[in-house]
Amino acid sequence: MLETIDYTIVKRRAGYYRLKLGRGSTQQVIDKVMPFIGTPCKYCKEIITEKNFSLDHKDPLPSSKRGLANLSPKEIERLSSMDNIQVIDLICNRSKNNLTDEQYTSLLEFLEKDPVMKAIVLKKMKMSNFIFRKK
Ligand SMILES: [Zn+2]
Repeated sequence: MLETIDYTIVKRRAGYYRLKLGRGSTQQVIDKVMPFIGTPCKYCKEIITEKNFSLDHKDPLPSSKRGLANLSPKEIERLSSMDNIQVIDLICNRSKNNLTDEQYTSLLEFLEKDPVMKAIVLKKMKMSNFIFRKK
């Protein structure tokens, strides 16, 4: 049985949407995050702390209302379940943006071939996603 995070979609001025965790989620979120504090981020190996952690959807929710409307209730439930949430550092969350875990992992593997290219591409990706700030 999937555990579902209580959430609401908040429309941003720029037309973006973000996920806002509901009040009932607090203990659930703490239980999810705490085991990861002090461990390396799965993508960049940066140590995850109380200040840099972020909750990331392995398979992202659509960033628009229209995208959400195209999903079945079952798919929305899967995407918003705790099983689809991973704890990574904030920088990686910004870079990963709407890529799936699989897509971002293979992108990082590709970028490993060229450290200069990796630094430039990840910097650009991070900057293009400033809208997703830590709450
Ligand atoms: Zn990271």
